[in-house]
Amino acid sequence: MAEFSLDLDEDTLQIQSWVHDFAANVMRPAAHEWDEREETPWPIIEEAARIGLYSFDFIAQAFAEPSGLMMPVALEELSWGDAGIGMAILGSTLGLAGIASNGTTEQLMEWGPQCYGTPEKIQLAAFAVSEPDAGSDVSSLRTRAVYDEAKDEWVLNGTKTWISNGGIADIHVVVASVDPELGSRGQASFIVPPKTPGLSQGQKFSKMGIRASHTAEVILQDCRVPGHCLLGGKDKLDEKLSRARQGIKSTGQAAMKTFEATRPGVGAQALGIARAAYEYSLDYAKERKAFGRAIIENQSIAFKLADMKMRIDASRLLVWRASWMGRNGKDFVAGEGSMSKLFAGETAVWVTEEAIQILGGYGYVRDYPVERWHRDSKIYTIFEGTSEIQRLIIARAISGVHIK
Ligand SMILES: Cc1cc2nc3c(=O)[nH]c(=O)nc-3n(C[C@H](O)[C@H](O)[C@H](O)COP(=O)(O)OP(=O)(O)OC[C@H]3O[C@@H](n4cnc5c(N)ncnc54)[C@H](O)[C@@H]3O)c2cc1C
Repeated sequence: MAEFSLDLDEDTLQIQSWVHDFAANVMRPAAHEWDEREETPWPIIEEAARIGLYSFDFIAQAFAEPSGLMMPVALEELSWGDAGIGMAILGSTLGLAGIASNGTTEQLMEWGPQCYGTPEKIQLAAFAVSEPDAGSDVSSLRTRAVYDEAKDEWVLNGTKTWISNGGIADIHVVVASVDPELGSRGQASFIVPPKTPGLSQGQKFSKMGIRASHTAEVILQDCRVPGHCLLGGKDKLDEKLSRARQGIKSTGQAAMKTFEATRPGVGAQALGIARAAYEYSLDYAKERKAFGRAIIENQSIAFKLADMKMRIDASRLLVWRASWMGRNGKDFVAGEGSMSKLFAGETAVWVTEEAIQILGGYGYVRDYPVERWHRDSKIYTIFEGTSEIQRLIIARAISGVHIK
């Protein structure tokens, strides 16, 4: 087990500086354009693939690093560059996480690299859970998976919504219900391989923020996937369903642990936006003059910056603690993963709003990046579990009471 330390090791420092350079030199200059275009920033993904940042190997390296801090450090820098382009680069990692948490090692090694493709032939992945009537309440998914034994195929039917890279991905990881009566215990995850008939993109959403990231519905109509595309395999699923039908206590805690373990990474992204806005508004407050003095000389502005910095540092400590715990197999006894995502997400919204206030009129117009950072930050209190759901998880963990 790695000791927890705030001193990053050499490898992590190198990665931090490498990702920061990409964020500063490639993402930042392109951020405004792709926000306005609301399209997948292919040239930036290509550049990220060319240098190895958009690749299975890099993500695997960051996940494997023993302290657990390489991943949040890299994610913070990416999001500091631009959260929308960052999500366009990271969307595939959601698909990969879906495979890693439910698949066998063989499945991970087969499909993981395909989530990214190669610099010559880039591929994307998506993780499709949410539905029009099932967002926070994942137990009520309606998408059905029915096994066709004669053909050893699974037939998927349903509509997924809000899916990052939905419909444009090569690999879709779809969560569907095999036995609706069992709620979330009757669900399984499936790989839908590239160009599988029956999977199509529905509506593409026009969003408030992270607009360089593609978000759309995914329609599944008699979409048939081979038996081996069931993540974890049929025997494991049959055993899980049989235990659930007999009312034996769930072993699904492992899945819950996985969700908790990915949340610090989402918190790290929010942290990147908050830091960007803080740094920008600090510089601005020192330059901008009103009433014959720099606006930072007013306590009301300087105190905002002090609070912004304090909350950003507190967010990073929570994110790093949870990342270290997740990587080193520590149980999240008080919902530490949720805490990190919740606090960093709400901090990003708060900090970016304060940054707008510090810039005054310049904070409100699109010629300056601060209003974009505020729009981008808001998604961090919504996706990957809303702030309310994070509070539920923490409250249940600390109380042992099934709070509703
Ligand atoms: C840009 C974007 C990208 C996304 N990417 C993906 C993706 O790649 N894959 C994917 O599967 N999903 C994705 N999502 C979906 C996202 O995870 C859901 O939007 C989110 O989980 C909330 O679900 P909902 O929108 O249905 O809200 P609802 O669940 O309807 O919630 C509405 C409100 O009610 C509150 N609420 C609900 N239940 C409770 C409760 N028990 N206690 C207290 N409050 C409650 C919520 O906190 C929220 O404030 C994405 C969403 C967006 C907007």
